[in-house]
This record gives sequence, C-alpha cells and structure tokens, in this order.
Amino acid sequence: METILVLLHPDAEGAIAKAGLEAIAAAHGLGGEVIIGLVGGNAAGAAKVIGGAGRVLAVEGDAFSQSRYATDAAAAQALVAASKAGIVMAPATSRWSRCLAGVAQRCGGRIDSHITAIAPEGVTRWYYRQRIEATFTRAELPWFLLLESGAASAWQGAPCDGTFERIAVEAAPRTEVKGVVSPGAGEQTVKPEAELLFVAGAGWTKKQKDGAAHVERAGELILGIVRTAGASLGSSKSLVDLSGEGQAVLPFLSHLNQVGQTGSTPRHPKGLATCCHGEEPHVVGWRFIQDRRAVNLDANCGWARGKADVLYVADAFEVMEELNRLLA
Ligand SMILES: Cc1cc2nc3c(=O)[nH]c(=O)nc-3n(C[C@H](O)[C@H](O)[C@H](O)COP(=O)(O)OP(=O)(O)OC[C@H]3O[C@@H](n4cnc5c(N)ncnc54)[C@H](O)[C@@H]3O)c2cc1C
Repeated sequence: METILVLLHPDAEGAIAKAGLEAIAAAHGLGGEVIIGLVGGNAAGAAKVIGGAGRVLAVEGDAFSQSRYATDAAAAQALVAASKAGIVMAPATSRWSRCLAGVAQRCGGRIDSHITAIAPEGVTRWYYRQRIEATFTRAELPWFLLLESGAASAWQGAPCDGTFERIAVEAAPRTEVKGVVSPGAGEQTVKPEAELLFVAGAGWTKKQKDGAAHVERAGELILGIVRTAGASLGSSKSLVDLSGEGQAVLPFLSHLNQVGQTGSTPRHPKGLATCCHGEEPHVVGWRFIQDRRAVNLDANCGWARGKADVLYVADAFEVMEELNRLLA
C-alpha cells in the first residue's frame, strides 16, 4: 500500500477544521502509512491535536499562514517530496481546491476532486454535479484526492506531545495579502453544522388562499424557525431567483442558500422543506440529508413521489405559526 499524505491548514490556534479530521479518518481507512502535512498556522498546537494520527511534517512561517497560490503550492510540493507519498489527500477547502491541481502537475501526478468515498478498491466521485457517480482507480502517482466534507466521520484520537518535523521551504510570494474583507455583519443563515436544514420554496411568495401574498409574514416565520431551532436556511432556486426578476422577495436569502443541482449539497441529519415543490433539480441537493420531511398544500407534489420520508399536506403558514409558537 502506498504512503498517504494528508494535507491540512491549521488555524492560528492550531485547530483543524472538521473536514480535515474527516480526511485523516478516510486516509486511515485505506490501510497504508499515514503522514500528516501541515501548512501555516500553529503547527505545534495542531500536532498536539492530531499527532496520534501519524508522523507530522510541517511548513511554517508567516508567509504560509495566508491563503495564497504560490506559497500553498510550494509548501504542498515540498511536503509531497518529503513524505514520498503515493496518495495525497486534502479536504476540499477553497484553499486546497485552488492550488492542488497545479501541485499535481508539478509532481507529475494526477488529481481528482469531489471525492465522496474512499476505499482500498477505489475512490468514488460525482460527475455533472452529483447526478452520476463513478468508482475508479488510477495507476499514475502521486494521486491527489480532494475530499468532500461529510464523506467520512471525523478522526478522533488522544492528544499527544506535539512532535513534528519542520520542512524548510523558501517563500517567494509575488502577491501580498493586505487584509481580509468579510461580508457585512448580516444574519448568518447558512450553518453547515446545524442539526436541521430548513428549506424555503417559492410558494412563500405566492398568492395564498385569501388571494393575497404575505411575503413579510413569510419572512418572519422563516427567520423565526431559523433562530429558535438553530436551523440552517436553504432555498429553492425559484425563490432566490425572484430577486433578479424584481419581485417581492425575502431579503435575507441569496444564492448561497440555494440547495440543488446548481446550488449546494448540504449534509444535515434532518431536513424540512416548506412551500417547495420538490422537483428533481432541487431534491438532488438533498442527497446527504438523512431524514427528509416537507410541508406542501399539494398532495401530488414531488416530495410525495418517494422524495420525502414524510409529507405533511398542509398550509405552511399555519404549520410554521404553530411550530414557532411551540419553539418559542
Ligand atoms: C438545469 C436546472 C438546474 C436547476 N437547479 C436547481 C437547484 O439547484 N435548486 C433548485 O431548487 N431548483 C433548481 N432548478 C429549478 C427546479 O426545477 C424548480 O423549478 C425549483 O426547484 C422550483 O422551486 P419551488 O419548488 O420553490 O417553486 P414552485 O415550483 O413554484 O413550487 C412552490 C410550491 O409551494 C407550494 N405552496 C404554495 N403555498 C403553500 C402553502 N401555503 N403551504 C404549503 N405549500 C405551499 C405549492 O404547492 C408548490 O408546490 C433547476 C432547473 C434546471 C432546469
């Protein structure tokens, strides 16, 4: 079995994101020697947390703490050379997704992204978003794999003394990072770690049984459940697209909330769709939601056709009024 290098970028406190711990667990599932390669951040702190997962190599220094193609690629290339790994795994963070294709090219290897499962017989990835899945192997090495979050359970191990080997890399950045600009301090509605995904569909903005639309009330009910249940807010494409068409919309929704074929594929244990029809391009984004429920006036909607575990045929305005009241 080839040696497996797991690339991670710890933060300034040495913490490793959950997706990184999942990559470690997936690597251990293959059976070869696992080496951890750290880039930037607090390597000593991180090595104390994940040192039990295998030998730890680290490229440290201010230049490597910042996300930048040139320094991340140089660090990853040096770690691949030092580890002599045949398989290089990394969580599909924006940082690794940006630079690892270039590193694979420099190392004469191959890279595959959107990996959803790894086993000794082969790796599984999706094509055309998540509509087609394939399991395959490659002969070319080193083979780089970008692992989707949620594809493995997080690695757990006892803290250790934090021993690691420093790998010297000369930083030659041509780009200077002057600062970080974050989006305005609006309400955070996308919460990847939430127990519940609450999906709002375009029905919330449509005329209701009294012949009028109640978009403002819809917004209050949706935000109510997002706050009281600590839910993550998802949306159908139709609902987020409405703003582009100049219609009355829910101001807190953006395309970041969109779930589906051209949106996201979140991984919450439970999902509740409301005023959403449950069409295939939307439901395909529910692939990893384990318990699926929907509230729709239409007993013949897409959810009723095997897409939800439970469909409540009811008025979502009434259901959410009651649910908000109970949760409050
Ligand atoms: C290439 C392609 C890619 C696409 N990608 C995506 C994607 O990524 N994500 C996505 O979501 N869609 C996607 N779509 C669009 C998708 O096919 C649907 O058009 C969309 O999901 C419909 O959104 P909706 O269910 O919110 O709206 P509608 O189809 O308008 O459904 C509204 C629903 O609300 C119900 N309703 C109304 N009032 C109430 C009430 N008071 N109580 C309960 N129920 C009520 C109605 O019965 C209806 O079922 C894609 C389409 C294409 C062609």
